[in-house]
Amino acid sequence: MEKVLLVRYTEIHLKGLNRPYFERALVDNMKRALRGLEPRIEREHGRIYVRNIREADFAEAQERLTRVFGIHSLSPAAAVDKDWETVVSAARELMERRLEGVTGEVTFKVLARRSDKHYFMNSDEINRELGGRMLELFPQLKVDVHSPEIKLSVEIRDMAYVYCEEIPGVNGMPVGTAGKASLLISGGIDSPVAGYMMAKRGLTLSAVHFYSYPYTSERARDKVVELTRLVTKYAGEIRLFLVPFTEIQMTIYEKCPEKETTVLMRRLMMRIAQTIAEREGAQALITGESLGQVASQTLEALACTNDAVTMPVFRPLIGFDKDEIMDVARRIGTYETSILPYEDCCTVFVPKHPVTKPKLAELRASEAAVDWSEMIAKAIENTELMVIK
Ligand code: ATP
Ligand code: MG
Repeated sequence: MEKVLLVRYTEIHLKGLNRPYFERALVDNMKRALRGLEPRIEREHGRIYVRNIREADFAEAQERLTRVFGIHSLSPAAAVDKDWETVVSAARELMERRLEGVTGEVTFKVLARRSDKHYFMNSDEINRELGGRMLELFPQLKVDVHSPEIKLSVEIRDMAYVYCEEIPGVNGMPVGTAGKASLLISGGIDSPVAGYMMAKRGLTLSAVHFYSYPYTSERARDKVVELTRLVTKYAGEIRLFLVPFTEIQMTIYEKCPEKETTVLMRRLMMRIAQTIAEREGAQALITGESLGQVASQTLEALACTNDAVTMPVFRPLIGFDKDEIMDVARRIGTYETSILPYEDCCTVFVPKHPVTKPKLAELRASEAAVDWSEMIAKAIENTELMVIK
């Protein structure tokens, strides 16, 4: 008996003529996720089969695939010869394991599908036959066709595939099928979640982080690197640009009105991020902003931030409450790192009374009072690139 992972995918079905492109991207991403486990991946009739995984690596392979965007669900299946008694004995083995330690009555049904139309039984016959055999073998089973606790599936294709477990995937679109965007990542809770959400829609990510050494520490930077690494578990490789921001930040505080400093800082971050993004061939910026969360995220402030760049800015968390963002962060595994108490350049320099309704004309004027071009060029020149895998 061979053990395989049967992979189902979702929205890709809707893509008409582009479907092979999306399927190929998904298979490539699966290969990348399973690197080191020597899988053999086959694509056939709307399904993907992962073969050749060693027994000892099976759980690991399963776990990694639950983080690949585009996968709807997976089932560990026994692939056996189509000979009827062989199918029955594979089903028995699976059921034995499934019922281990279970006491009392358990409901089940058999769900047969057959793409091999020459098989000697049709789906209904398989359901009845196999259901009957299971009832004989396991007295605690009872048939319930509407909401069974166990669905015993049998697919008759090139071989017979038997399984009774369906593990949910993360859904979404394969990373790399929607273009490239650059994530502004801080050490907080929100931005890693924002990156996750846009990668889920198929974007390849790069990331930009601004640090203000010595006001922010080496450890605050390490935290951002670690958060980026956690996002790569879903998004694949991320090129992280670390931009030294101290000079610009100090200049803002020395030369600009205190209450405007936060929004001015955000405008300058956006401008630099856009320049880096353009060089990377990225077509959009992503931030973790959520409407009304802080003074710099009122509608007026967001409009002023947007005004600094021409690229589309994606804010996938715009309508999320903090609680909802935290739930996603916990689910994807970034939360614990995000709450480590290291200072961020935004928190070090917060003004006492920030404007909540900045006027664009006034901000533009404050910004125009300083010549930023050289400072920006220097920051970009001294930007460090880390490729995070
Ligand atoms: P987060 O959890 O992302 O830190 P936040 O609620 O603290 O969010 P702000 O500090 O106002 O929000 O920042 C808003 C957004 O600006 C962040 O989500 C992030 O996209 C970007 N950002 C903030 N600080 C930095 C930074 N130092 N480097 C890069 N991007 C940043
Ligand atoms: Mg922040």
